[in-house]
Amino acid sequence: MSSCIFCQIVRGEAPATRVYEDDDFLAFLDIRPITRGHTLVIPKQHSTELEDLDRDAGARLFRLGHHLALAMRRSDLAADGANLALNDGTAAFQTVGHVHLHVVPRQHGDKLRFATGLVLRRSKDAEATAAAIRTGLRKFESEGS
Ligand code: AMP
Ligand code: ZN
Repeated sequence: MSSCIFCQIVRGEAPATRVYEDDDFLAFLDIRPITRGHTLVIPKQHSTELEDLDRDAGARLFRLGHHLALAMRRSDLAADGANLALNDGTAAFQTVGHVHLHVVPRQHGDKLRFATGLVLRRSKDAEATAAAIRTGLRKFESEGS
């Protein structure tokens, strides 16, 4: 879809800090992160909402989000957990019309930082953050998972 910002990112026509990529999926940092490492996982093929997303693609999307959440625990972000969220449709406050799964790393006791992040949503050290997650992915993969 030519006008879709996430399709433009997939094609390399719009900038993004990429965390993971394979033939069918892409993960990149959210431009307005709630917490450091807030990542979006998308199928490369455009689907606007769950209604038109292939169900196997949906399962693989969650699998990749699961994988990234575990990588974040093993990374220098030192996540203790994550919020995985998918806003399906404008009724559910979806603002970008290309299906995406949010993976938002969390730490014990980060309630105040999370609340501040929800308001400010500022990006900082994106390249270093993406590198840390990639290192976490390598650690996770080396466990043979
Ligand atoms: P949602 O409300 O679930 O549709 O969330 C859309 C998310 O996409 C928001 O968290 C935005 O900050 C994020 N976003 C919008 N444009 C971009 C972009 N060009 N690069 C990275 N993230 C983006
Ligand atoms: Zn798209």
